[in-house]
Amino acid sequence: MKVVVLGGGIAGVFVAYFLRERGFDVIGIGGELTYPLTSLVLTTSMPHVEDVELAWESLEIYRRFTHLSEVTSVDILPRWVDLSPLSRVPHDVVDRVEGLRLDPDEIAVVTTDYLVPVRRVVNALRKMLGFSEDYGLLKVEGGRAYVVANGRKIEGDVVVLAAGYRNSLIAREVGLEVPLAPYECYAVLSIVSWRARRYSIGDYVLGWYGRPAAPPFYIAGDGCGRYGEGPPPNYADRMGNLMSKRLGVAVPLYVKTGYCEVGPHGGPLYGKYPGLENLYVIGGFNGYGSMVGPALARRLADLVAGGGADDVFRLEKMPLQRRINPCEVAERHDWGGVLLRNS
Ligand SMILES: Cc1cc2nc3c(=O)[nH]c(=O)nc-3n(C[C@H](O)[C@H](O)[C@H](O)COP(=O)(O)OP(=O)(O)OC[C@H]3O[C@@H](n4cnc5c(N)ncnc54)[C@H](O)[C@@H]3O)c2cc1C
Repeated sequence: MKVVVLGGGIAGVFVAYFLRERGFDVIGIGGELTYPLTSLVLTTSMPHVEDVELAWESLEIYRRFTHLSEVTSVDILPRWVDLSPLSRVPHDVVDRVEGLRLDPDEIAVVTTDYLVPVRRVVNALRKMLGFSEDYGLLKVEGGRAYVVANGRKIEGDVVVLAAGYRNSLIAREVGLEVPLAPYECYAVLSIVSWRARRYSIGDYVLGWYGRPAAPPFYIAGDGCGRYGEGPPPNYADRMGNLMSKRLGVAVPLYVKTGYCEVGPHGGPLYGKYPGLENLYVIGGFNGYGSMVGPALARRLADLVAGGGADDVFRLEKMPLQRRINPCEVAERHDWGGVLLRNS
């Protein structure tokens, strides 16, 4: 069986990898490799048990390809938060962390995060699986999907749409609705104290996250911006203020815009597109694609191969026409959504 994968990010290359492992003939149309040189964070401290499971699975999958370095993870939360989703995650709950300022009504949940050299892993898989760097167009004819790349029609028994934040835009060009929406997410390259630089921080009280980058830098970000608008003019100052409240001194240097995508339940989805014979979709990973992407890609490969899990991420369970306002959807991986629901 021949499968065409459109999109060569984490989702696309891991779907291709697991399909190849199951004996499929895979053609990858990858687009540009978009990841930064810095590692992305894989945390297992998340408020939904299903996501924690996917993160553990992804960790094992990465270990086939690379060494992951560990970093102390500090999630700052109000005292009242329910930590039961962490029952399988080794963690400590503390009142003090060297180098961070905590209020008396706050706790720090200390776990281990893993730094994933995603660019390196994805690039290696692209090469191994023969992905091209072409951009493709999705086309539909007679109830079947195919791809056009470089002026060439590429047909497959199966077509997988895995083009990251462009998924819904690509689908809409051929009149298909997928319940995904793109948004902008920003990161600020900063200098912080050497004590704070050791931590991967999720500050769910003040609403920002940060992690070590190549020395001496630290990367921090927050929230969500509307697609196509760019960061607000005072973004670096705002981030500087948030970080300083927690870390003492923080000097923001440079703001970079990234693009993300979210599904209706604030998390990823995968599955078969209803009404077409051969189209499958995977996407909506927002800020945690490197945490759960490989494991979800394996589930999509299982589905294409005739098996598959009946889980909360299945596209078939979601209303296709639902319009999503990305900045109003609480991201599943983020404890901030839990705080909002309980406030
Ligand atoms: C600033 C920032 C920080 C982040 N930090 C983290 C983190 O620490 N941990 C974490 O888990 N996640 C993090 N993320 C999120 C993570 O990067 C995404 O969830 C993940 O990249 C999504 O994977 P994907 O494969 O769905 O999409 P992408 O990574 O966007 O890959 C899509 C691929 O498809 C290609 N493509 C697009 N259109 C076409 C086309 N028409 N034809 C062919 N190819 C096409 C693109 O070139 C790209 O290679 C961060 C994101 C940003 C922006």
